[in-house]
Amino acid sequence: MSEHTPVLIVGAGPVGLALAGDLGWRGVPCTVIEQGDGRIEQPKMDLIGVRTMEFCRRWGIADWVRDAPYPGDYPQDCVFVTGLNGFELGRERFPGRAFEASPPQSPQKRERAPQDMFDPILKRFAESFDCVTLQYQTALVSFADGPDRVEATVRDTRSGTTRTLTAAYLVGADGASSAVREGAGIAMSGNPALTYTTNVLFRCADFPSLHRMGKAYRFIFIGPEGTWLTIVAINGGDRFRMSIVGTPDKVNHSEDDIRSALRRAMGRDFDYEILSVMRWVRRELVADRYGVGRVFIAGDSAHLMSPTGALGMNTGIQDAVDLGWKLDAVLRGWGGAELLHSYGSERRPVALRNVAASTENLGRMLSTRDRKPPPEVFADTPQADAIRADYGAWFTETMRHEWFMNGFHLGYRYDDSPIVWPDGTPAPPLETSTYTQTARPGARAPHVALPDGRSTLDLFGRGFTLLRIGPNAPSGEGLMQAAAAAGVPIRAVALDRPEVGDAYQRALVLVRPDGHVAWRDDAEPRQPAAVIDAVRGAKPIAGAAQLEAAS
Ligand SMILES: Cc1cc2nc3c(=O)[nH]c(=O)nc-3n(C[C@H](O)[C@H](O)[C@H](O)COP(=O)(O)OP(=O)(O)OC[C@H]3O[C@@H](n4cnc5c(N)ncnc54)[C@H](O)[C@@H]3O)c2cc1C
Repeated sequence: MSEHTPVLIVGAGPVGLALAGDLGWRGVPCTVIEQGDGRIEQPKMDLIGVRTMEFCRRWGIADWVRDAPYPGDYPQDCVFVTGLNGFELGRERFPGRAFEASPPQSPQKRERAPQDMFDPILKRFAESFDCVTLQYQTALVSFADGPDRVEATVRDTRSGTTRTLTAAYLVGADGASSAVREGAGIAMSGNPALTYTTNVLFRCADFPSLHRMGKAYRFIFIGPEGTWLTIVAINGGDRFRMSIVGTPDKVNHSEDDIRSALRRAMGRDFDYEILSVMRWVRRELVADRYGVGRVFIAGDSAHLMSPTGALGMNTGIQDAVDLGWKLDAVLRGWGGAELLHSYGSERRPVALRNVAASTENLGRMLSTRDRKPPPEVFADTPQADAIRADYGAWFTETMRHEWFMNGFHLGYRYDDSPIVWPDGTPAPPLETSTYTQTARPGARAPHVALPDGRSTLDLFGRGFTLLRIGPNAPSGEGLMQAAAAAGVPIRAVALDRPEVGDAYQRALVLVRPDGHVAWRDDAEPRQPAAVIDAVRGAKPIAGAAQLEAAS
């Protein structure tokens, strides 16, 4: 007898765990299989973006992230140096995470917590639901996608025994070399090798006292050849990650290369312990499709980008949130045939944009290889100070694109989604550093602080929310009844606050379970059932004439 689960998730990295947690939070049974034992040899991500923190808030785990052991007062400066005991060329100052304010558009702020702090938080969240099963040391071997279920062969990595698991849906959150993506025959397009990079996790308890740059999150090292190395403070304590940035040419850095890079960075020998070495290829790739039949991919399985901009995992967690409510809807029977197709239509364009922006950021970090520092930058003479200041100011300004990215973290939209009902207004430009809130259908529903201390975001979640805004808002009864008739979970919330009206610009706004706007107008639609059928994926939105007739 095979075991059956509604959703089988392959991979318990941050994206698989977030999807399992979101499904558990919605009461959807699922099973996660992970080939590893849950230990993280070398943490990759460490920046949790503001949108991901909004999801953590919804899930009730934002405090768990806040209380992670990364010290709140550890300065988050990014410093550009010739060496740790050489010259400082520039510095972008950021306070410790406990002292950073939320942006005005969000009730949350981004957080610094490396993967070996954040994955256990997501795991604890997923495990808190009885309907979620996590199976470690269990690898996907192969799968077959049938008309009404997927049959997966999985192997216990300790005993080598195999067994069969069946599922209504299979989601590959199994990372860069995804067996699910491969098994589904999905190709990736883009640039397969931007750099061959070597990451070295090392321990050095007194690192800040060994140099003159002070405590900072990231050091970027610029030599006569341009940018060659970075060092980041992984846990705000004794662990650091050095990255020998490399080039598109394949290279295998030896232990001697690693030790000489550390010596060059410090300007002398010092005591440290190498904890792990990870050789990896920085890529710019997006899957050509996000699903085939009953099989979907999410996270690094679907998109691979340079970490410059901290968009990788954060994009993947957005995937998980987009897919979570849609799987819930189809498993409960109210999601239409188009709903799961819309996952790829909505998320793939976001990945294409984020992947390209991450490569652009890499280009900025490496722009010193084209505009090499003048030799005086490395000279200890009074005349050199002005040349250093000039070069450093240019690089500091260049790097700002990477530090300020709310247009990506918060401003992604599903403008052309087949399940979003356009309101006829032109799409505002997509922003990069800045972010202007909009309630245009497809956008993240805006945050407005409510008098009771909540955010408007706290109103959205497991079902649809119909906001009735202002003193004369229509009742919304037509939409409520149409939703009830189709089995769509919905509740109406009346908000008579001018600041909510300013942010949402319409008297009736329908917000989806993932917090994106599905539809808005000042009046009830003439055919409310047509709107509900469109946003639940039962009837793809066809053309302007059809929209006109219904609204
Ligand atoms: C140096 C570096 C720094 C980064 N910093 C950031 C950052 O600050 N912010 C950010 O958002 N992103 C960052 N990223 C990117 C981020 O780490 C990834 O995007 C993220 O880890 C992807 O998560 P995932 O769950 O999709 O995949 P992964 O983390 O790769 O997890 C996939 C899991 O699937 C498992 N698996 C694979 N195959 C199988 C199988 N056949 N059966 C069972 N299990 C399987 C693997 O063991 C693994 O645990 C960084 C990346 C790097 C390299």
